[in-house]
Amino acid sequence: MHSSGDTKHSIETSLRPRYLTLYLLILLCVGSGALFALYTNYSKYTSQVKNELLREANITNTQIESTLIDAKNLLDLTLPKIEQDLNAGKLTDQSAYKILQENRNQLSLFISDEGFMLTLYVDESGMLRATSQKVFDQPIDLSDRLYFQKLKNDSKKTVAVGNLVVSRTTDLLTFHIAIPITDKSGKFQGVLAQQLAAGDIESNLEKSLDGITDAQILVHIGSGNMAFNYPKLSKQSQVDEMKCLYIHELILAHQAPLGVIETSSSQVLPDDSYISYATSKNYDLETIVILSKKDVLFGFIKENLAFLISTLLVIFSLSVIMWRFYRNAVEMDLTLEISYTDGLTQLKNRRAFDVEFPRLWKDAMRTKQSISALFIDIDRFKVFNDEYGHECGDIALRAVADVIQRSVSRPLDICCRWGGEEFAVILPNTTEHSAISLADEIMKAVRAIRFDFPCDKRPKISVSIGIASTIVREENQSDDLIDMADKAMYLAKQAGRDRYALYSPGHSQ
Ligand code: GH3
Ligand code: MG
Ligand code: MG
Repeated sequence: MHSSGDTKHSIETSLRPRYLTLYLLILLCVGSGALFALYTNYSKYTSQVKNELLREANITNTQIESTLIDAKNLLDLTLPKIEQDLNAGKLTDQSAYKILQENRNQLSLFISDEGFMLTLYVDESGMLRATSQKVFDQPIDLSDRLYFQKLKNDSKKTVAVGNLVVSRTTDLLTFHIAIPITDKSGKFQGVLAQQLAAGDIESNLEKSLDGITDAQILVHIGSGNMAFNYPKLSKQSQVDEMKCLYIHELILAHQAPLGVIETSSSQVLPDDSYISYATSKNYDLETIVILSKKDVLFGFIKENLAFLISTLLVIFSLSVIMWRFYRNAVEMDLTLEISYTDGLTQLKNRRAFDVEFPRLWKDAMRTKQSISALFIDIDRFKVFNDEYGHECGDIALRAVADVIQRSVSRPLDICCRWGGEEFAVILPNTTEHSAISLADEIMKAVRAIRFDFPCDKRPKISVSIGIASTIVREENQSDDLIDMADKAMYLAKQAGRDRYALYSPGHSQ
């Protein structure tokens, strides 16, 4: 017999898969919608980031290039005067100094010379002879400088840019643009170079890049030699030359003056990254902006945090709502089940019978199958109660109910406590013959019930069963079947009890 705990458990077992499926479906819809939105946003976000990185590379490159162009113009204007003196055999350190100083002053009127430091005259052996500020008694040796070597070793080169160095004249971090000085015969006679202050260029860049992204900017000046590393522009020691050369190779392979490259992690660049770059061939300039994909993802999450949190909140609320619905459904089904169950025997009660029987009746009418009813009444139950007490009577009622319940096994069969010590069983698709077998089985099982409540005698119990079978036709009423079984039960009583009787119209009372 079922306890209410068992009933609850079986309701939960039947409801759980349905609610779980519904919940998963809702999660799938919300989840896939959110994922789709995130995916679209992320694609948009990454293409924006790539554009931004490219813009950043371009701005930086253009800015440094324009400084180099200004410096080259200054050198181009100074060169004829130096070469004129040289060809006339009049070039001294003093005259060079004068020319450099004059040109420097003149040019300051036309260009913004922020970052422009000394203009240098270096002779063919690499000795610094004069600057726009002074003449040297002890010329400084600059023959190891990259710009000098480039121009000395390649006579076709008309301009060269050196790498980032600490100036031997000013002790500041500088780089140089230089052009060759040649005599009438085209022979290399030294270089004119303009010193540019890395610090000033850094502050200029900072102004124009302020707040663009937190990407790392690298600028190479001179073939692959590292020059700047923004935002730590001045700390040359932090520059990773391996990284620069590696990226330089990537850019060469890309064969375009500017673009964005996606790299997977490697020894040199530990993270998957976006690398945007802009180059300027004339000045051996290469500006690289690196942003790791991890940073892009963090940026994206930061930007979409509100969306992510609200999606999680929606999922959480849905989960709570679904859980409440499920609990309510369990409670409602349990209440319904209890209201349809007889408290003493746990069989269905008359209310449940009144709901279920008309359905079976309709089915029987539709299928034209026979339907049978058993009406079961405990024999001399009043006496049983009087003899053993009401409590033992209840135990006996439960035992008989249990026997009936166990004998009636098909899912569509209805088995209910009709009232008092009477039970009704409806057996759809059952012939009279099968109903008789079932009645017989029930009677035998009831007789075999043994009670273990304390008393001297052995309590005996039996039932009388009325059997009615019919094939439902339009004119039949559902109540007739129970009536017929009830009448048959009286026949069994009259015939001496502890037996079954079939309904026959002739014997009806
Ligand atoms: P018969 O063989 O003619 O059916 O005799 P009977 O005594 O069974 O019939 P009667 O209708 O005279 O008495 C039915 C008795 O069933 C009366 C009542 O005390 C008892 N009864 C009805 N409901 C319950 C119940 O819930 N618990 C107990 N213990 N007894 C009940
Ligand atoms: Mg009775
Ligand atoms: Mg009775």
